[in-house]
Amino acid sequence: MQMTDDSLKKIRTLLGTIREKSPFYARKFADVNLTAVDSQIAFERLPFTTKDDLRDAYPLGLAAVPVEHIVRIHSSSGTTGTPVIIPYTAKDVEDWAIMFARCYTMAGITAADRIHITPGYGLWTAGIGFQLGAERMGAMAIPMGPGNTDKQLQMMIDLGSTVLGATSSYALLLAETIAKKGIGDKIKLRKGVIGSERWGEKMRLRIAHELGVQLHDIYGLTEIYGPGIGINCEAQDAMHVWDDYCYFEIIDPETGMVVPDGTSGELVITTLVKEGAPLVRYRTHDLTRFVVGQCACGSTYPRIERLIGRSDDMVKVKGINVFPAHIEEALTATTDASSEYQVMIDHLDGKDIMTVFFETAATGERRRHAERELNGIVKAKLSLSVVAKAVDIGELPRSEKKSQRIFDNRY
Ligand code: ZN
Repeated sequence: MQMTDDSLKKIRTLLGTIREKSPFYARKFADVNLTAVDSQIAFERLPFTTKDDLRDAYPLGLAAVPVEHIVRIHSSSGTTGTPVIIPYTAKDVEDWAIMFARCYTMAGITAADRIHITPGYGLWTAGIGFQLGAERMGAMAIPMGPGNTDKQLQMMIDLGSTVLGATSSYALLLAETIAKKGIGDKIKLRKGVIGSERWGEKMRLRIAHELGVQLHDIYGLTEIYGPGIGINCEAQDAMHVWDDYCYFEIIDPETGMVVPDGTSGELVITTLVKEGAPLVRYRTHDLTRFVVGQCACGSTYPRIERLIGRSDDMVKVKGINVFPAHIEEALTATTDASSEYQVMIDHLDGKDIMTVFFETAATGERRRHAERELNGIVKAKLSLSVVAKAVDIGELPRSEKKSQRIFDNRY
């Protein structure tokens, strides 16, 4: 994406004082000539900031203001080791509320709505973000937090909740419980605002159908305010992102180079006006791409596609980046293919060979046809020839946890 004059101006202001204000960036940018960053090209040469960098700054090393200006901290749940702590000033909290309220508005939610908030409260940014935005907009916040599904549903009925804020898994649990109890006609929900992650189309349809809602993916991460920096509008699936608060780049996760607009890669975010813990070129590891052109809703905020995975899941074959989501989409489009698959990548006779095993109930010529069809779809989509191999239903290994689908045997 072309960097706007507004973004460049804000970035230059940010870099102008960042070493003075932030001991973290004083160290990181010690040898960088920041005054020379006067263009998009110069900006794209700056080093990235990574999650490991943030962990090393534990507990308050990221603070770029005196501690008495910090009004709150949030923390991303470290699955391993040291958590990351993000300090917020009063202005940061207000900016976040403004962005979240803008998300609700973009999704067609108004002050007349009753927003049932089920994500967790606490160190996590989720629940309180949904609440800040609701109050800022003037809607009724119903701060349930997670769990106790029976009570959730009773409150939902009694208060006539019209909007559900949830993770996709909890939204599914609520949808299933509503279907099981046969109380769908008592539920007044019309919108679901779901924390963005990669989730299947089948799950999406099921939630939308059972709850009778239009779904909106809301994007964000604790390191950058929290949820609320982007959401899809009513016109389409891609998420509009707030480029007056953040600068967005998509890079090739292997080379670190910015990719052409429309190409999939890793989202990198720079905060433009954050005070407590500004971040420059933060690698999110979320995979997406810019959606170019004008949105039917008329908004000129840039758009990113729904997340297609994490960069840790990516493999490079014959110079082409391949994500599990690509294979899953191709299987969905293939007649007779089930959703179970496994990918093997080998290096034979100087060439990379990618074999896609998939399950099918078809036999004989129909099975051969499914293999040819899958090969053709992958080739059209990725410009990559694969060896498609159909196997019987149940032949591929199953796992209760997230199963490994891609095996790279080249190294
Ligand atoms: Zn739109």
